[in-house]
Amino acid sequence: MMQAVVIGSGFGGLAAAVRLRARGYEVRVLEALDQPGGRARVFRQDGFTFDAGPTVITAPYLIAELFERVGRDARDYYELLPVDPFYRILFADGSRFDYVGDEERLLAEVARLSPRDVDGYRRLSAAAREIFEVGYQQLADQPFTRLSDMLRVLPEMLRLRSYRTVHGLVASHLRDERLRQAFTFEPLLVGGNPFSTTSIYLLIHWLERKWGVHFARGGTTALVNALVRLLAELEVPVECGRPAAQIEVSAGRVSGVRTTDGELLPADVVVANADPTVVYRDLVDARWRRRHTDRRLSRVRQSMSLFVGYFGVRGTYPDLAHHTILLGPRYRELLNDIFRRRVLAHDFSLYLHTPTRTDPSLAPPGHETCYVLSPVPNNRSGIAWSEAQRAEYFERILASLEQRVMPGLRERLVTLRTLTPHEFEHDLRSADGAAFGPEPILTQSAWFRYHNQSEDVSGLYFVGAGTHPGGGVPGVLSSARVLERLLPDAAGSRAVRPLVSVP
Ligand SMILES: Cc1cc2nc3c(=O)[nH]c(=O)nc-3n(C[C@H](O)[C@H](O)[C@H](O)COP(=O)(O)OP(=O)(O)OC[C@H]3O[C@@H](n4cnc5c(N)ncnc54)[C@H](O)[C@@H]3O)c2cc1C
Repeated sequence: MMQAVVIGSGFGGLAAAVRLRARGYEVRVLEALDQPGGRARVFRQDGFTFDAGPTVITAPYLIAELFERVGRDARDYYELLPVDPFYRILFADGSRFDYVGDEERLLAEVARLSPRDVDGYRRLSAAAREIFEVGYQQLADQPFTRLSDMLRVLPEMLRLRSYRTVHGLVASHLRDERLRQAFTFEPLLVGGNPFSTTSIYLLIHWLERKWGVHFARGGTTALVNALVRLLAELEVPVECGRPAAQIEVSAGRVSGVRTTDGELLPADVVVANADPTVVYRDLVDARWRRRHTDRRLSRVRQSMSLFVGYFGVRGTYPDLAHHTILLGPRYRELLNDIFRRRVLAHDFSLYLHTPTRTDPSLAPPGHETCYVLSPVPNNRSGIAWSEAQRAEYFERILASLEQRVMPGLRERLVTLRTLTPHEFEHDLRSADGAAFGPEPILTQSAWFRYHNQSEDVSGLYFVGAGTHPGGGVPGVLSSARVLERLLPDAAGSRAVRPLVSVP
């Protein structure tokens, strides 16, 4: 039987393992950390359950189809709960906007803030839908391993004017500054600056409108556990605490993976779910890297990073939405500080996650589980994130939350922990401590992103945020779809057709 080793157990790696198994490979997954999930791992502390990373689940069919792919019913493994509103956005001037899925309610929200923008929003949503139909339904699960793949889609991308930025496109339809912010922050959820990210990413808006925003009962960790359970049933071990140290290559082809404890695991196919920059740099000997030289790897522009503060609170805040965006007084300039100047600004825009609004079981009775996320520069900034720095930054954020949405917060704190660019670099092994792999600008997207099939080493493949199509749970699950199109199947034939279609 053909053997495959998957390096990393993020959503991309777990999805790849299911698909490899479905194609007849003998598979094992190596995970460096002591638990699966990667960015979607879980922290349990003082009775609180904190999902470390993803919380907004969109395009749920991408998860369900992994179960269907191997003849299972996803409903036997996890439950998704709809979230309404998708997000509540609070502006610096005290006004608010509920971003909801229902068209009539959404138009009423737009009209409440800015009646003259209602028609503009209609045009914007039509544009988002058109971009989605091309960008998502035709590009996201297609391989971009040859230049001809790119040339094939170029006319459509030009027609959609994808050289425009997300902000450029939104601002051409909406005049109210608050609405412009409300409809442009989404690229930040996949590591992109709305002022430089290609407008293709506006497809996220339509993706959410089309399939809704969901939360898994028990937290995102319940989805990770469901996939690990499925893999166990398929006899695919997920070996935690086992970092890969080297991808062994013989005559330009993978031959196996060596773990840090020195064991050599033979492999016909290696699928790297870890950050491609780091995989090439640290796991593939330089003599096999004609294209991905150290110099080229160091020139990749990595996405921004994140400061995440997790906290448990005594008492509840029934007025809070599940997902709240708290925008600060500056927008473009703050993003410049993060992406260009790479300095830690004094102000911030925050995402507040309160999962206990949907699933109270994530905290002890009468308590609230929360995390607050602030986009910050990646480690090219030189910020050390010492204990004192992170405590001071977290304190400023908590004071702001207390003043804006959670009165009495600091007296009610029960437990705290933080995640910074330092952990992204040293625990999750991401280049420059980036939270989402290479920044999703046009010149680092599709064919310009790390290919799902290595040009340097045959038998080496990539899934996950660093490769095509990019970050976010739908993106990394789509990368595993791309993988399945590229793989030779275990009997030696090639997959040529989509194995599960988009509903
Ligand atoms: C705080 C936060 C919030 C987010 N919120 C959302 C959201 O709400 N919705 C959404 O869709 N997306 C969200 N994202 C983005 C999304 O979480 C990620 O893009 C996605 O989970 C990344 O999955 P991945 O497959 O690339 O793997 P990762 O999660 O990056 O996992 C890679 C794994 O590889 C392992 N690894 C690395 N090197 C080695 C090695 N040498 N040997 C063995 N293992 C190795 C790592 O330990 C890690 O477990 C969020 C991200 C963060 C950080």
